[in-house]
Amino acid sequence: MLDIQKIRDDFPILSEKVNGKPLVYFDNGATSQKPQIVIDAIATYYQEINANIHRGVHTLSQLATDAYEISRVKIQHHINAKFSHEVLFTSGTTHGINLVTNGFASILKPGDEVIVSSLEHHSNIVPWQMLCEKTGATLKVIPMNEDGELIMDAFDALLSEKTKVVTVNHISNALGIINPIKYIIEKAHVVGAAVLIDGAQAVPHLKPDVQDLDCDFYAFSGHKMCGPTGTGILYGKEDWLNKLPPYQGGGEMIKEVTFEKTTYADLPHKFEAGTPNIAGGIVLGTAVDYLNNIGFHNIQKQEEKLLEHATKRLLEIEGLKIYGTGKNKASVVSFNIDGIHPYDIGSIIDKLGIAVRTGHHCAQPIMNFFCIPGTIRASFSFYNTIEEIDIMVEAVKKAKTMLS
Ligand SMILES: *Cc1c(COP(=O)(O)O)cnc(C)c1O
Repeated sequence: MLDIQKIRDDFPILSEKVNGKPLVYFDNGATSQKPQIVIDAIATYYQEINANIHRGVHTLSQLATDAYEISRVKIQHHINAKFSHEVLFTSGTTHGINLVTNGFASILKPGDEVIVSSLEHHSNIVPWQMLCEKTGATLKVIPMNEDGELIMDAFDALLSEKTKVVTVNHISNALGIINPIKYIIEKAHVVGAAVLIDGAQAVPHLKPDVQDLDCDFYAFSGHKMCGPTGTGILYGKEDWLNKLPPYQGGGEMIKEVTFEKTTYADLPHKFEAGTPNIAGGIVLGTAVDYLNNIGFHNIQKQEEKLLEHATKRLLEIEGLKIYGTGKNKASVVSFNIDGIHPYDIGSIIDKLGIAVRTGHHCAQPIMNFFCIPGTIRASFSFYNTIEEIDIMVEAVKKAKTMLS
């Protein structure tokens, strides 16, 4: 069993007060908090080895380059990629997805089809819409049921030789539903489509194995998994990364430049133009180490307990409805109370020190499906406690009384 108190001591912000009350942080789906070891590693980088990478012959530049590349290899092993050059540093999930859609602009033709799911975050909808507009391809959507689960029969029916790309999130940020991505990847490959998995909500809870999944791309952000903001990873299979054109032009991504012609650098540098977030990339490795030291098995056990307790306690409240009632779920509870706007509940419990998210969670199509303006979303991390959930439940009850 995890010693949660000891783990909480790793996160200085968790002992802060907000509005005069001890902070109860349940907005982990938007961004996680950072352990001291991650905060310290940022300062250490700037204090001890700050230099630009991949260019200098001088010692500091070598040290910074080594640390950056060691982090890449660490992340390669973490997600079980075959090669370290399949691991691209990005500024986050959004950047990773746009890198891929930009590449497909030179591949897709009118009449081709792209399949997304009705559970996607806007950042895995809009870039594909833009791509379809540019290329004349058609966007198809996997529908969902009342439990917030994707309907696999409908997905099967959408697939054809016209399907060129299928993209779906591993875990829904708005509802916490874990999607059957292995099935989706396998079926998509039968018709020869490439598959991108948006792993932004998965990586804080589990260790994805990209070779076992056999996905073609897997995008995630560092800041939702205890790492710094402005960091992320795009995994891409070597073949696909060789096939796609570069995303941005600039320094670092070239082999040779003349005014007649430029040749591009080998992977991964072809996709890493300009000076990257060096400190961030290195410290993302620190965050991955931190999570692995705790162990994803332990993280999942703690989060399952929190999810179960929160679901049970919240359902004691009359008129409360949970969205995303499918079986396979991560530690996210999205809910509303009859006749009360989610924003009003969120504001009242904020005054009591409780941070939840209210609104559409960048997934308006899901809210449209349920005909609601939004939900209150409490998303739990391994450093949250049963006591904190009880504090939230009491606060929600109080808000309900005040508002009805
Ligand atoms: C947060 C999130 C994103 C966007 O991540 P950024 O870090 O803002 O780029 C995309 N998809 C899902 C499922 C998310 O939860």
